Amino acid sequence: MSSVQYLIAARLLLALAMLNIATGQVLQSQSTSQPGRQSSRRFTFSEAHMGTIFRIVLYAPDATTAGKASRAAFDRVAGLDDAMSDYKPDSELMRLCQAGGGPAVKVSEDLFQVLAAAQELAARSDGAFDATIGPVVRLWRRARRRHELPDSNRLAQALALVGYRNLVLDSKRRTAQLLKPGMMLDLGGIAKGYAADEALRLLKREGITSGLVAAAGDITCSGPPPGRTSWRIEIAGPAPSTKSADKSARYLLLHDAAVSTSGDAEQHLDIGGQRYSHIINPATGMALTGPRSVTVVAPRGIIADSYAVAVCVLGRERGLRLIDSTDSTAALIVEADGRGFRQFESRKLLPLASRTRV
Ligand code: ADP
Ligand code: MG
Repeated sequence: MSSVQYLIAARLLLALAMLNIATGQVLQSQSTSQPGRQSSRRFTFSEAHMGTIFRIVLYAPDATTAGKASRAAFDRVAGLDDAMSDYKPDSELMRLCQAGGGPAVKVSEDLFQVLAAAQELAARSDGAFDATIGPVVRLWRRARRRHELPDSNRLAQALALVGYRNLVLDSKRRTAQLLKPGMMLDLGGIAKGYAADEALRLLKREGITSGLVAAAGDITCSGPPPGRTSWRIEIAGPAPSTKSADKSARYLLLHDAAVSTSGDAEQHLDIGGQRYSHIINPATGMALTGPRSVTVVAPRGIIADSYAVAVCVLGRERGLRLIDSTDSTAALIVEADGRGFRQFESRKLLPLASRTRV
């Protein structure tokens, strides 16, 4: 196989890896209708939120309980979307951005929590994750629509507005302040994980102890299905052909945990033989060129989601160092080059993940 063909295979496979995560492919090897387990049935729901499809899988005694619980969870996600979207001009987030250069603004507890988590990761990742990346993300979104690279002058202007140190939080007063006018926040790399956590919390409040919420590449789950010890979540393994890709499919066995995958498989710009990811390196303003797919397992979705983005930006060595120094968090990085695939794991992947050959 020529190197060009290898690359194509690599991209297909990364796409496949994303797809399996994205569809929240949750597989059960055991029937739920074992003796003694019939009191709990499996229900699935899906709705469009945050620019993607949120899927819920839950076990409940009856359809009424399941419907009520999923409704509460989806309503919570819709509320968070209204607050944190940078596509909705009157979202709380956009109102905060409009106050850039002015005094501190009182924000909701949700927005404060997400901004605080973003700032903590920004500091820990040396700015690789940066929620103030908005102005640059907007230029790259436009570039994807127009199918042309962003103008370098405009990119430099936008980059001058980026910098997490210019976002100042005050936890006592629960305020946020953007020091420069024109700054733009983008929570696209963290809000879905938080929303999935919150959806799961609402399910629990409705009495659902065994549930899973999947928002594209971000999955959060609570207790395992009845009669099982964990949820089985497929991530495609790296292999140079579709046939062997099937053989190398791997499963994460998880409960009360979250898993997120980030990379260039879903949203990207292909130009001049180069693939530009929707993830930006805040140090340069350039979209990442990979191809690379990063899967992070963590106790909560807000962590898995945002750390997957940070590891993408930091790259293999620094990214894995970040994960290794973070409690209860593990990562798998799959990279492709002209010679095929390579994968790298954090020290903590094995205790959290279990693989099965199919
Ligand atoms: P998704 O879950 O939607 O596939 P990711 O979790 O991988 O996306 O996050 C990518 C999104 O994060 C981008 O679309 C953009 O909105 C935002 N983003 C891009 N680069 C950065 C960065 N360096 N730091 C923080 N957020 C980023
Ligand atoms: Mg994500």
